[in-house]
Amino acid sequence: MSTAVAAKPDLRSMSLAELTAVVAQAGEPGFRARQIFKWLHQKYASSLEQMTDLSKGLRQRLAETHSVDSLTEDLAQQASDGTIKFRFRTHDGRQLESVYMPEEDRKTLCVSTQVGCAMGCAFCMTATMGLVRNLEAGEIVDQVYRVNAALMARGVPGPRPLTNLVFMGMGEPLHNFDNLKRALELLESPEGSNFSHRHLTVSTSGLVPMIERFGAETEAKLAISLNATTDEQRTELMPVNKKWPIAALMEACRRFPAKQGRRLTFEYVMLKGVNDSLEDAMRLAGLVKGMDAKVNLIAYNQNPGLPFQSVEPSQVEAFHRLLTERGVVAVVRKNRGRDIAAACGQLVAPGRKNA
Ligand code: SAH
Ligand code: SF4
Repeated sequence: MSTAVAAKPDLRSMSLAELTAVVAQAGEPGFRARQIFKWLHQKYASSLEQMTDLSKGLRQRLAETHSVDSLTEDLAQQASDGTIKFRFRTHDGRQLESVYMPEEDRKTLCVSTQVGCAMGCAFCMTATMGLVRNLEAGEIVDQVYRVNAALMARGVPGPRPLTNLVFMGMGEPLHNFDNLKRALELLESPEGSNFSHRHLTVSTSGLVPMIERFGAETEAKLAISLNATTDEQRTELMPVNKKWPIAALMEACRRFPAKQGRRLTFEYVMLKGVNDSLEDAMRLAGLVKGMDAKVNLIAYNQNPGLPFQSVEPSQVEAFHRLLTERGVVAVVRKNRGRDIAAACGQLVAPGRKNA
């Protein structure tokens, strides 16, 4: 299969200013750019043909030089808890997954930023794919638009059913920083979906220099996948730790600009007999002490072929209690969509069985 990404630039990946330049080149007034932007980012159009208030001539001229790279829904699997795993196909035949998680007070989508992932974490199913390719900004935001449209088709009130986005699907978001940043800007645009940065959370395995850029150049919230409390153990689980060990990571976190509502989250996946002891909990409490941060405890979701096991709920509880006693704000993350392999770290392109 070809690895080539579209030769023509994708209109959905463009800012309003860039679209305005494209439209001007096609000899049309600037307000046409706003029309196109709204079609793409507010009305979830998936092709130029749908933009019926543009002249046919303009649509044809645009199609000669540009494309609209939309995702196609291949599969939507619903779990017993209401979670829906969507599988999408890109214009060049790559597959990716996004997971919808409804709750009483919010509707969250877990968004992918790459096809596969290069980071090689030992416990994660996505890692087994390696990195196939980065997603374009337009492909990152289109997951949100396709799911909004699919939810409305299922009777969920619109025009924008999703309230929260977490960039915790396939891929390492900060390894695709430019496209991620662009996607966040598109999603926050008032002419688009108008998301507040408070409702956008990006998760990283700990690319230290990129944490700094993320802090300076975006307003979204950040979650750090810590997962271990000693360098020896973290390096074994997460190879990124070799380059950016815990001390450097925590230093970057302490420097992270704590603008309003921008409290950091530390994610900690509990692996039975590996990082789930009370000594681990004590070290974790020591690491985050004095920081305006919260800890998210995640019971491991088992994956076929990977040598890790889920922890008992009683162990999660004891771990949680110790953190709380030491003044750490910690929550136990609910497990969602396990019965359809849509939970954290279970996303993988098909061809592999998620038992
Ligand atoms: N690449 C980014 C975001 C995607 S992974 C990152 O690593 O942060 C999202 C979260 O799922 C991470 O915190 C990761 O540690 C966790 N995770 C990966 N595999 C898991 C599994 N099998 N069970 C539970 N959580 C897992
Ligand atoms: Fe990549 Fe995150 Fe999985 Fe690690 S946990 S391999 S960074 S997706």
